[in-house]
Amino acid sequence: MSELNLILLGPPGSGKGTQGERLQADFRLPYYATGDILRAAVRDRSKLGREAKQYMDRGDLVPDEVIIGLIAERVERSEAADGFILDGFPRTTAQAEALEAEMAELGRRLTAAILIDVSDEEVVRRLSGRRTCAKEGHVFHVEFDPPKNEGVCDVCGSKLVVRDDDKPEVIRHRLEQYREKTEPLISHFEQRGILRRIEGESPPEEVGDRIRAMLATLKMEEEL
Ligand SMILES: [Zn+2]
Repeated sequence: MSELNLILLGPPGSGKGTQGERLQADFRLPYYATGDILRAAVRDRSKLGREAKQYMDRGDLVPDEVIIGLIAERVERSEAADGFILDGFPRTTAQAEALEAEMAELGRRLTAAILIDVSDEEVVRRLSGRRTCAKEGHVFHVEFDPPKNEGVCDVCGSKLVVRDDDKPEVIRHRLEQYREKTEPLISHFEQRGILRRIEGESPPEEVGDRIRAMLATLKMEEEL
């Protein structure tokens, strides 16, 4: 039985979340966004969840081994027997190696790291078009989801503003940090021979079709 144990990579604004949801539906694989896993564990007060909470309460980063433990718990569930989609982890080469070691202990391995490739210019274009209403935080996009009247919130009628996070210079800074951290991770997966680059600037449907075609090929190769 072949498994699809997948990692999704891509800069903010690459449409990773959208593609993750599609993959989940198309291949019936569970989608593990690490932020959600962490929050769920804290809420459920599992052993690892309580441990994670101690770090979070102190304002510290949750250590890799706790997060990997949480991921391993999920991977061992029957829902993930045919594979899973992991989003938000690993973020560093050390985390990737720790995850690979844990997977090996479970008798499994990562099938592919899917990188949704989007240029910085495109990310800035996508993210800087966001407009948020000053009063209640309703979100619009000048290009993809424009309000009926420019600069005015459709829902509550208050003024639309560009949040600090959505200013081009702030987005560029976030991108720089992302590239700095992620480049080594990309080379790591490349060396492992599991990196799959997907051109991510086309419409989401096309990007999704490309990922699906790539995975179908991969699954066929695995079954040979
Ligand atoms: Zn509003």
